[in-house]
Amino acid sequence: MNHQFAPESLMMSFGYKPELSEGAIKCPIFQTSTFVFKTAEEGKSFFEIAYGKRQMAEGEQPGLIYSRINNPDLEILEDRLALWDRAEKAAVFESGMSAISTVLMEYLSPGDVVLYSTPVYGGSHHFMNHVLKKFGIKAISFDISCSREEIEAILTAENATGSLGMIYIETPANPTNALIDMEMCAALAAKYSTPDRRVVLSVDNTYMGPLWQHPLDHGADLVLYSATKYIGGHSDVIAGAVVGRAADIQRIKVLRTFLGNMCSPHTGWLLLRSLETLKVRMDQQQLNAIKVAEYLQAHPKVEKVYYPGLLDEINDAEQYRIYKKQCLGSGAMVSFDVKGGEKEAFKFLNNLKLIKLAVSLGGTESLAEHPATMTHTDIPDAEKDRIGISEKLVRLSVGIEHYNDIIYDVEQALSVM
Ligand SMILES: *Cc1c(COP(=O)(O)O)cnc(C)c1O
Repeated sequence: MNHQFAPESLMMSFGYKPELSEGAIKCPIFQTSTFVFKTAEEGKSFFEIAYGKRQMAEGEQPGLIYSRINNPDLEILEDRLALWDRAEKAAVFESGMSAISTVLMEYLSPGDVVLYSTPVYGGSHHFMNHVLKKFGIKAISFDISCSREEIEAILTAENATGSLGMIYIETPANPTNALIDMEMCAALAAKYSTPDRRVVLSVDNTYMGPLWQHPLDHGADLVLYSATKYIGGHSDVIAGAVVGRAADIQRIKVLRTFLGNMCSPHTGWLLLRSLETLKVRMDQQQLNAIKVAEYLQAHPKVEKVYYPGLLDEINDAEQYRIYKKQCLGSGAMVSFDVKGGEKEAFKFLNNLKLIKLAVSLGGTESLAEHPATMTHTDIPDAEKDRIGISEKLVRLSVGIEHYNDIIYDVEQALSVM
């Protein structure tokens, strides 16, 4: 009777009671702005919880008030999302950026420093360096290749050891798949935390999660997702999520209530539908990606392939060690350098037939793009060089098509290059 169901077995049913919805097997879209209270006392009690005026009692559920605060589609989605990372709680947002910006705003105050890894998603970079700056919050970055000692030297040089509020990392890094040691970052966060001030470790897990990497098991406090990517998985919705401890998610939800950036019931419902096939989609994408990466590595017109599954125990010893320690899979994002430069990379992209030329990732269809002039065009050239985003780099998000067809398309596009 102690059987523990796997997350994929619970995605069709967890947290939903058919008897509350006319017996419908599927959770309906609760397309409603407001909810009726049974009594005034009930309304008062629901608001106390929603506005953080008191903690929930053991076994108490937050009452439904108004769809900016909570909605059944969002609550069921949050309960199911939390299962993958074995998190206590989750909160869903109208985009990955709204999840990220809300977390940064909740945990940082004027005078604070956020230490972040580069390369990081362009929107996160912009928010930290331009928006937070207006509120007196300073963003300091470290290269993904930095050792712990080098990171500490940066903090000391910036006189930031006493004002550090958050360490924010993205691993594997987009688009090079470089890995950061999460436990090393957790140790840094612990070192600079004081009894009255915790340094929070946030990890953007969009690239690997929620299947292939569980940052909470490696010392992260908060795990962030662009649910637009693997979680949504069909390139038809923009959404975001954060998972973590109950007390943290409660704080984040209070700010979400006032920013009003929760996702809509319809988006919540679409993501519930997506979660039912998350495991089979991601398994197939990873299997395909391994085949594609191996094919590319053997191709004479390809200079180098960046894929965690191809890391070499001897030549990439440190990256390999981190990979083995913290990743449960190699993912479905494959980047590679073509022989040549922008001209050759563009020829390849323009000649694809099945794979579409578009940014974004994690969807059922395979996508290809040119990071240096598209997703990462904003990064200064010197930094691009340092982190390996060259003119010859192409990024592939591998979908669920038959891998023979993906490889056929890659092969014929490389042949005209
Ligand atoms: C897409 C993406 C984001 C932003 O998410 P949106 O849903 O587009 O707002 C953040 N981080 C990573 C790693 C992403 O790929």
